[in-house]
Amino acid sequence: MPPPLPSAAAAVGDLVVRRPEGLYCPPGDFYIDPWRAVPRAIITHAHADHARGGHGAYLCAAPGEGVLRARLGDIRLQTLAYGQTIHVQGVTVSLHPAGHVLGSAQVRLAWRGQVWVVSGDYKTEPDRTCAPFESVRCHCFITESTFGLPIYRWRPSAEVFAEINGWWQGNVAAGRPSLLLGYSFGKAQRLLAGLDPAIGPIVVHSAVEPLNEAYRAEGVALPPTLRFSEVKDKALWRQAVVLAPPSAARGPMSRTLSGASDAMASGWMQLRGARRRAGLDRGFVLSDHADWPGLVGAIGATGAERVIVTHGQEAVLVRWLQEQGLDASSMETDYGDEAANDTTDAVVPAAEAPAPSDQQAP
Ligand SMILES: [Zn+2]
Ligand SMILES: [Zn+2]
Repeated sequence: MPPPLPSAAAAVGDLVVRRPEGLYCPPGDFYIDPWRAVPRAIITHAHADHARGGHGAYLCAAPGEGVLRARLGDIRLQTLAYGQTIHVQGVTVSLHPAGHVLGSAQVRLAWRGQVWVVSGDYKTEPDRTCAPFESVRCHCFITESTFGLPIYRWRPSAEVFAEINGWWQGNVAAGRPSLLLGYSFGKAQRLLAGLDPAIGPIVVHSAVEPLNEAYRAEGVALPPTLRFSEVKDKALWRQAVVLAPPSAARGPMSRTLSGASDAMASGWMQLRGARRRAGLDRGFVLSDHADWPGLVGAIGATGAERVIVTHGQEAVLVRWLQEQGLDASSMETDYGDEAANDTTDAVVPAAEAPAPSDQQAP
């Protein structure tokens, strides 16, 4: 663990506090990912639980502009390049890559010698659909904890993609369609980037393609995709993989794809109970969030003496950090799971607590 930054000046209040509207920076008079409408909001990323409509003015990282506008339409938006600084009422603000989805950012705030970082959602393993997570030194780190239990340990994504492509190839050989479920923003594009287009055509649900377009417009290379409605030749379904949000599994699409092998890609697929309840042929463990080693590694690399845990499995992570001698606490937020970003309820319940049978390491 790197040595901490010099101690913050005494008598400087907290740079981020919780208000009914959301996380608030008192000296700067702005909010970060507020859940109620506010005059000024910094948005860490465009998932629906972090980026809501109705704010007076928005600030986000430049690569996130397209996806944020695809979600929220015509908003008053200012963007910052990663690492660029601005001053808001004396608070120095900059945005740094969080490695979660396109345009995702950690928010760095500096005021009177004190540095705070709000992580938003983050993932430490790099992938080619967004800028890789960057560690930022700070006095206080406000971290997410979606997968903040020691049971969550991801395998390298290259291994998971080999498994997914093998499943697809096997279905082609057996002459049945492949239905791959993943959240429409972020997960779907990451899946696309890992699918092998040599196996067959890649068909996407209508909820997914507008986000693909926003990614391509930002220069992220994705394989060619067909919209579901563009497929006229029925024989093609038997070679195709169809990428759709979990909510689509029970929709009209399932009739066209009768006999398909279905699978879901999510960190929750590590839980036997979640796999069972989802009732799918396969569950691929692939997450856009940090696993337990990723979380504790990222927290350690900030050098922060104080850590505020939000958004997930706060209690276990707080206790672990306290045992390491850090000033750790939790802060309640209204953030949910990426499931909230799809139109109807997901196959896997959002942010569910693991069942006791899931608690042992797999
Ligand atoms: Zn997110
Ligand atoms: Zn989130």
